[in-house]
Amino acid sequence: MQGFNKYYPPDYDDAKHGSLNSYRGKHALGDRARKIDQGILITRFELPFNIWCGSCDAHIGMGVRYNAEKKKIGMYYSTPIFSFRCKCHLCSGWFEIHTDPKNTRYVVVSGARQKMEDWDPEENGGYAVHDTNGKTEPVDPLAALEKSTDAQTNATKVQAPRIEQLQSVSEHYNADPYEHSRRVRKRFRVEKKIEKAAEALDQGIKERYGLPAELKLIRADAESEAVAKDEWEKGRVRVAQEQTSKRRKLALDAPVVAPAATGSSSKAYGSALASLRTRILANSSRSSGAASRKPTLAGIAIRKLP
Ligand SMILES: [Zn+2]
Repeated sequence: MQGFNKYYPPDYDDAKHGSLNSYRGKHALGDRARKIDQGILITRFELPFNIWCGSCDAHIGMGVRYNAEKKKIGMYYSTPIFSFRCKCHLCSGWFEIHTDPKNTRYVVVSGARQKMEDWDPEENGGYAVHDTNGKTEPVDPLAALEKSTDAQTNATKVQAPRIEQLQSVSEHYNADPYEHSRRVRKRFRVEKKIEKAAEALDQGIKERYGLPAELKLIRADAESEAVAKDEWEKGRVRVAQEQTSKRRKLALDAPVVAPAATGSSSKAYGSALASLRTRILANSSRSSGAASRKPTLAGIAIRKLP
């Protein structure tokens, strides 16, 4: 008999006994746990369907209750499978019923026969709605689409190679981060040195020619140097020509003043001047094409000279 009250006897020691049940040597579930050492618990079990007893062949109706020995006999994924062992109330023969989590039902395993009264739609001119054996798959439009030939072709010929490419790129960039970092830093140090040297050179040129600090200079290389030399030479020649023609023009426009005192020498001076004028005029008409060109600064580009 279970202890129903909370009477603590005088010799009860909490540290020693722990609880009243252990003090009395009883399980909390009382007599129902008398086979707990075998993993069996006595529970009240109600027949879920009609059966015929295997020993006395009597019909036992659904809903008859038994004190069944409930035992865990296995697992279906995370769901335990229980066995219920009952004794027939007519003949004392044992029969056993198991739970079937996969199909959400009970199965008679031994000692009895189940009376099959499940609704069978096919037998009654209908169609089975639920198929627990998984023979037919549910109609899923997305699943059907994934199974189409186009989708499969796309997956194998486009998506899979693309994923492989992405994976290889990712592996390439993540394979050896230390090495990548080292290489980048090394290159950066070298480039920085070159950049600094070039900047110092530019600064020197700007200071030498009094150029504005924000002016951007072109990098010196063989080609640009050749072009600069060529243009420099052309500009030099042009400036020289312009200066010559200017001097001639000034000479031509200058007023002719004859010295009054000496007669013979003034005549000689006048003739010499006339011959000079004709010579200059002849020269200027010859080189009129070159002289007519106005000197322009735009044609002279600022180049960095070696
Ligand atoms: Zn029986």
